[in-house]
Amino acid sequence: MKDNAILYIIIPCYNEEKVLQITSTMFLEKIESLINKGKISDKSRIMFVNDGSKDRTWEIICELAKTDEHYIGISQSRNRGHQNAVLAGLMEAKDNCDITISIDCDGQDDINAMDKMVDEYLNGCEIVYGVRSSRQTDTFFKRFTAQGFYKLLNAMGAEVVYNHADYRLVSSRVLKEFENFKEVNLFLRGMFPLVGFKSTSVYYERHERIAGESHYPLRKMLALAFDGITSLSIKPIRMITGLGTAIAMLSFVGVIWSIVMAVLGKTVAGWASMVCIVTFIGGIQLICLGVIGEYIGKIYMEVKHRPRYIISERTNDDK
Ligand code: UDP
Ligand code: MG
Repeated sequence: MKDNAILYIIIPCYNEEKVLQITSTMFLEKIESLINKGKISDKSRIMFVNDGSKDRTWEIICELAKTDEHYIGISQSRNRGHQNAVLAGLMEAKDNCDITISIDCDGQDDINAMDKMVDEYLNGCEIVYGVRSSRQTDTFFKRFTAQGFYKLLNAMGAEVVYNHADYRLVSSRVLKEFENFKEVNLFLRGMFPLVGFKSTSVYYERHERIAGESHYPLRKMLALAFDGITSLSIKPIRMITGLGTAIAMLSFVGVIWSIVMAVLGKTVAGWASMVCIVTFIGGIQLICLGVIGEYIGKIYMEVKHRPRYIISERTNDDK
């Protein structure tokens, strides 16, 4: 049995001054209870990743780090988004710990699921996905769009665990392999299944945000869905090829039809239908170009190979 594994809880924070005060104690209590139960080592840490917050978030993290040695923090040089913040934390932690659990700082994900996650790790799993058992606390709109999100992802060939966001236990062994996934366009929940290793799911209830507001309005959700699809699959491009073939065949039928009509001398002044067809095909072509352009844009970003995160400060810098 692997006992006393070192656990790092990775918590991305963006403008969370209202929430942090409340949830930081919850995280500390959790980690202490896990230590007391003898499941994890006392060297375990709660690592906050400040994602270029504009409020007092980083100051709060620094103050926390002074009050208890279990709190540590790193700060990104600017706001880079949730996925990059989680990645920065995971990469920072991977050499110092045996397991990581990434979780949002707003108290929405039930921290009591961590016990089960650690148990699954002790049973030999390397990745444990936190899966929401229901979406009762969500508004109808959020529930509807989120469900559509997973359906769309799967239909488009991006494999993701249904109703799993970024609450997840990952062992450092997996992280060391994950490091070789060099892509800049990150969609972590779709990438970890690609790493493989023994994995399982743990179910939990998702609560409402303790304070503050969601940073994921519909616009960002759509962007994330689109990113997820185009980063993980080329199915949309295949669909374009299919669509192109179908339209080409259709127009071939149209050509034959018009020749037959011309031979029969029944040509009509079909201005309206002409315009309809031309604009329809024009529209489809533009959409297809847009999708292909999206992939080219991604290739461009990947080729530049810019760093995915830049850590500017650490709470233990002075030590
Ligand atoms: N977050 C971040 N960078 C961002 C936006 C969000 O690090 O640019 C963090 C945020 O502090 C929170 C988590 O990502 O811990 C999830 O964000 P949020 O709760 O706003 O999203 P929701 O739960 O509504 O999907
Ligand atoms: Mg949230």
